[in-house]
Amino acid sequence: MAATNPVVIAIDGPAASGKGTLSQRIADAFGLAHLDTGVLYRAVGVSVLRAGGDPADNAAAAKAAYALDPDHPILREVELRTDAAAQAASKVAAVPEVRAALLDFQRRFTQHPPGGAPGSVLDGRDIGTVVCPEADAKLFVTASVEVRAERRLKELRNRGIPAIPSDVLEDMKARDARDSQRAVAPLRPAADAFVLDTSALDADEVFARAVAHIGSKTGLRPTA
Ligand code: C5P
Repeated sequence: MAATNPVVIAIDGPAASGKGTLSQRIADAFGLAHLDTGVLYRAVGVSVLRAGGDPADNAAAAKAAYALDPDHPILREVELRTDAAAQAASKVAAVPEVRAALLDFQRRFTQHPPGGAPGSVLDGRDIGTVVCPEADAKLFVTASVEVRAERRLKELRNRGIPAIPSDVLEDMKARDARDSQRAVAPLRPAADAFVLDTSALDADEVFARAVAHIGSKTGLRPTA
């Protein structure tokens, strides 16, 4: 008898849509492993910057992507959360070889979820479309760019990082444009994704809708 494939939940969406918080909560509730795939692109972007390179330079970005493995200490660094890291990430993310290297990394995670978990939740931009087109459930979490910029501003201020509202909004728009318009794996909902607009919902409402959708697709019930 063939072994059952581990469950995969794909959660995509633009920056500051709330998908990261939701994904962690879903993983905890269903006892699944969680991979924030944005961290991988951020790590590649920061590695290139540290080496004195340009994140838009294909060769430098590809070299950094192939050097990344799950135990690399950079994956746990707080510097990955900065806006500079996010901008560098969205530049390396447009390099096809970077995406190819990270595709292997992500698929290995779904095939062998760490900690003996029965499956995984991956959040990113192209999980439902490219990385795991066969995912058991797919969500596309979004919100208006103004709402997302407002959330990002609050988050930065809570962390004591000074930020100018118009700059945050412009950065968000620039990153949206780069992510949606790139030739490889652009940000877009999969045809079979459940689109969840969080502009007017609080975190508990978003969570309840996501749990209901995942339950209807997989038969899974939260264990926590
Ligand atoms: O999700 P996060 O904001 O951490 O992602 C940083 C950047 O990494 C995104 O703006 C995007 O360019 C890139 N990314 C991607 N594909 C993913 C995850 C992130 O292209 N699956």
